[in-house]
Amino acid sequence: MSASREGLNPEFAAKLALFEKKLAANGIKVMLTCGYRSIAEQNRLYAAGRTRPGKKVTNARGGYSWHNYGLAADYVFVTDGKVNWNGPWATFGRIARECGLEWGGDFKTILDRPHVQWTNGRTLAQMRQAAASRK
Ligand SMILES: [Zn+2]
Repeated sequence: MSASREGLNPEFAAKLALFEKKLAANGIKVMLTCGYRSIAEQNRLYAAGRTRPGKKVTNARGGYSWHNYGLAADYVFVTDGKVNWNGPWATFGRIARECGLEWGGDFKTILDRPHVQWTNGRTLAQMRQAAASRK
C-alpha cells in the first residue's frame, strides 16, 4: 500500500529522502501514502461528496494541489509494522521544516498533518499558468 515515487519532482524527491533519513535517525518510521496525483485523479477526488457519492476528501480541484505538480507527499507512521495515524506529528513537522519542506500541520486553513510540500517560493497560480502554457 506504499505509494509510488513516480512523478515526483527530482529535487523534492531528494528532500523527501533526507526527511525520511532524519526521521529514521529519530526512531520514527513512516510510509509514503500519496505522492504525485494527476489532474484527472484530483478532479475525481474533488467530486467525492459533491457530484459523486461519499464524503468530501479534499478541497482542491485538479490543478489546485501541489500533489498535481509532484511537489507534495503524504505520510503515515508505521509502528510495529502497522499503520499509525497517532504518531509524533510535532517532531514530524519540525524535521520537515529542517529539511526545507512546508508542513500541512502549519496550515492556517485546513490542518493536514500527513502532508508535506515544497513550493520553492512559487504559487499554485503560477504552477497552473506554467502547465497551461505547455499545452
Ligand atoms: Zn497531501
